[in-house]
Amino acid sequence: MPFTLPPLPYGEEALAPVISAKTISFHYGKHHKAYVDNLNNLVPGTAYADLVLEDIVKKAAKDEKAKGIFNNAGQVWNHNFYWQSMAAGGHPPSGKIKDALQSSFGGVDEFKKAFKTAAVGQFGSGWAWLVSKDGKLAIETTANADTPIAHGGKPLLVADVWEHAYYLDFQNRRPDHIEAWLDKLANWSFAEKNLG
Ligand code: MN
Repeated sequence: MPFTLPPLPYGEEALAPVISAKTISFHYGKHHKAYVDNLNNLVPGTAYADLVLEDIVKKAAKDEKAKGIFNNAGQVWNHNFYWQSMAAGGHPPSGKIKDALQSSFGGVDEFKKAFKTAAVGQFGSGWAWLVSKDGKLAIETTANADTPIAHGGKPLLVADVWEHAYYLDFQNRRPDHIEAWLDKLANWSFAEKNLG
């Protein structure tokens, strides 16, 4: 406490044209910032006041009376992870992460197809994740502010599929956004680092 908005790992123009500077300025500067501000307003004086962000998410996930704290803490954590899940320019997966995609999905293209299907199939707002599970990679989706770390999961990479992540650039075309995201923005160095 207080929680802060971490700096973006790149400039607001860096992910264009897939994600425009205008989208980033709203998504990071307004949406993400609002979750941080809300959390700072909600937590003081509660049982969550002395916890770090990740522990707040895990504890609030099991607390029916802390839905507001869970939603805002989850969204802060998810967005912190999301900005790192992208890199300007993009490059195909290589090395250890490529091998893991190959053994878990049958190949990089097969992974992309499955991830796109999952991301497009997430009804309403949420997130599409690449996670490490039982020694393999897996794809999961979560709704709204939910996050694998609330359920013992180990995320490697995440795509935000809330409309605020793509609507200014792709309108209703979530499939096109996800395809471009996978081909041009997915940060495989970050995924590999998280694989450990
Ligand atoms: Mn978002």
